[in-house]
Amino acid sequence: MRSRFFSERFAALEPYVPGEQPRDRSYLKLNTNENPYPPTESALEKGREALERLNLYSDPTCRALNEEMARVLGTEPDRILMTNGSDEVLFFAFLAFCDESHPAFFPDITYGFYPVFARLTGVPFEEIPLADDFRIHLSDYEGKKGTLFLANPNAPTGIALSRAEIEAFLARNPDLLVVADEAYVDFGAESCVLLIDRYDNLLVTQTFSKSRSLAGGRLGCGIGGRPLIDSLNAVKYSVNPYNVNAVTQAAGIGMLRDEAVTRARCAEIAKTRDRTAEQLRALGFTVTDSRSNFLFAAHPSLDGAELAQALRDRGILIRHFSVPRIRQYNRISVGTPEQMGILVNTIQSILEGRI
Ligand SMILES: *Cc1c(COP(=O)(O)O)cnc(C)c1O
Repeated sequence: MRSRFFSERFAALEPYVPGEQPRDRSYLKLNTNENPYPPTESALEKGREALERLNLYSDPTCRALNEEMARVLGTEPDRILMTNGSDEVLFFAFLAFCDESHPAFFPDITYGFYPVFARLTGVPFEEIPLADDFRIHLSDYEGKKGTLFLANPNAPTGIALSRAEIEAFLARNPDLLVVADEAYVDFGAESCVLLIDRYDNLLVTQTFSKSRSLAGGRLGCGIGGRPLIDSLNAVKYSVNPYNVNAVTQAAGIGMLRDEAVTRARCAEIAKTRDRTAEQLRALGFTVTDSRSNFLFAAHPSLDGAELAQALRDRGILIRHFSVPRIRQYNRISVGTPEQMGILVNTIQSILEGRI
């Protein structure tokens, strides 16, 4: 129950519901797209060193971290804003770029935080239905004025648009700001980062939560031309200048020094994903063409919520969304080959029990 002092402004607020992090028993967690591999040794070491200086404020400019990130991405440090998870840069984008006359646009099936941020910030928004095959057709957004939040790959479908498609769209629609949410881009999609200097209507967001094993550290960023970054900074310095804590900044630098390890792990996860998709298809599932670290799958004779519950009873968590269009589906994070072996065997035994 909310307090009688709770602002009327938020009376209709429906907060985002994160995937559960249960403590009642140990589960095989395939429900929140975390990385199955721990932070690297250099990330741990840098994090430990930073712990000893926690009496000091963190660097509000994240200078050293921006430099490492710029090196890895092939851009300049002043094109990057580091945030407390990429959720924070998305929130800043709603505050900085959207208002009554600049609405937000996004697909009906996409990251569940976009409508939450829109409602919180009082920004009008339009949800445009995905095609029947769950693909985003950029032509649906042609000529719009405002901001398009474009998860690429999309969540929870995993389907990606090509960089060429996005670039052509940016060129044709200079009055629409495109926020390309690349939370999953490292698992096999094409990043738009290198387009930021050519298009002032492109902001890219990335996160360390999925490909860089730092979900608990909360680190993300926005990458864009100087005017976009300056605008986001105006918001950031009005909310929380020390938004990224010192331990996380240090651990982020450590992960970026081990970029080769991240690349190899992402390739391994992509390989495991494709193999698991084939195994699920062999069991009768429809599986989308995922370029991310999760699979989106539906079985014709097994209700989505029922499958999620049956797996839960057997110690495996996957993510079910009770949204009518995708109720038959589940989103399954890709873990290690061993974890996916357990998943496929368990699903097979559930299916056989029903037959
Ligand atoms: C996980 C995710 C994010 C944000 O994750 P953070 O942990 O806040 O960095 C953003 N967008 C999408 C589509 C995601 O799946």
